[in-house]
Amino acid sequence: MVIELNPQVYVDAYMTRLSWSFLATMVLAAVMALGFAAMSYFVFSRPVIRLGNYIVNADPTDDSRPLQMPPEHRHDDEVQLLGSVTVGLFGMIRKQIGELRRARDELQNANITLEERVAQRTEELNSAMQKLEVLASTDPLTGLPNRRAFLGRLEDAVAVWRRRDTPVSFILLDIDRFKALNDTYGHQAGDAVLVALAETLRTTLRSIDIPARMGGEEFAVLLPGEELQGAMILAERLRKGLEQNSVEYGGSKLSFTSSFGVSGLPSVKGLAEFDPDVAVQFDVLRNSESSDIQGILYSLADRALYDAKATGRNRCKLADFSTLSEFKDQLPSDI
Ligand code: GH3
Ligand code: MG
Ligand code: MG
Repeated sequence: MVIELNPQVYVDAYMTRLSWSFLATMVLAAVMALGFAAMSYFVFSRPVIRLGNYIVNADPTDDSRPLQMPPEHRHDDEVQLLGSVTVGLFGMIRKQIGELRRARDELQNANITLEERVAQRTEELNSAMQKLEVLASTDPLTGLPNRRAFLGRLEDAVAVWRRRDTPVSFILLDIDRFKALNDTYGHQAGDAVLVALAETLRTTLRSIDIPARMGGEEFAVLLPGEELQGAMILAERLRKGLEQNSVEYGGSKLSFTSSFGVSGLPSVKGLAEFDPDVAVQFDVLRNSESSDIQGILYSLADRALYDAKATGRNRCKLADFSTLSEFKDQLPSDI
């Protein structure tokens, strides 16, 4: 009996078994790894990704659409908790934004109402001020500009004369013996005469001329751009027109005359008509920036009117400009 001992056979058999068991272990490990990966994908990764997409796409500020619920999750775990917390948070955000929007709308409405009220009040105030301005500068009986308005316009015209050498003249007129007319026919008849005179001034003057009632039965006409000679011609025409006019009142025809004083500032060209001494006086006036030229002119017209009264009434007198030097006190001393 021969016993052959060959260990190689056992080694081979052992190695074969070892290989198979290693292979089986590896396969088992791979299957388990796959199973674990699939389980963690379905239980954790996929719900987290869906929840992430939900958070990214959900817009809690857009209240035109209902708030979407988080994606369904079958497991009662942290992912589900996160979904519930997220939707709760979104609800709170939407509520807060809704309140903010309402507050903003209310504020805007309040602002609009306030702006409207301010605009309305400003408009009312402006219109009231305009009315007040008209009232303050209009004579209520005749509707003509009053003394205040006239002197303002005269001041403007004086400034234009100084700057651009545009002449300006004005006529002062006063009804003769008006007191007697009032005494004879009554105060209302006097008023009717005043209204008729104002109407005559309105209709016979150029549109740029400005008639005004200076007070009582004294009127004035500002003639922008008119030399004194032209103003005298117009005054004479007015005098004749008023003399020939009569006013119907209570069945009587009321006639009246007026006296006129004419004053103004000639242009450099118009000065040629005057005595050189007087021309110098006008130059002094032109250069006296701060003097009350309109006041001086008014005084000269008033004196001329007084002269017209004193020499028989119903006549026109040109201001005596040689007396301009008498107003030196009203001019700045350095001139
Ligand atoms: P003279 O020719 O010197 O100007 O004389 P006059 O009578 O016109 O002047 P006077 O100053 O003596 O009288 C003016 C009169 O004018 C006195 C006043 O009763 C009257 N008067 C003033 N304002 C008005 C008014 O608004 N309506 C009426 N009806 N009369 C008025
Ligand atoms: Mg008078
Ligand atoms: Mg008078």
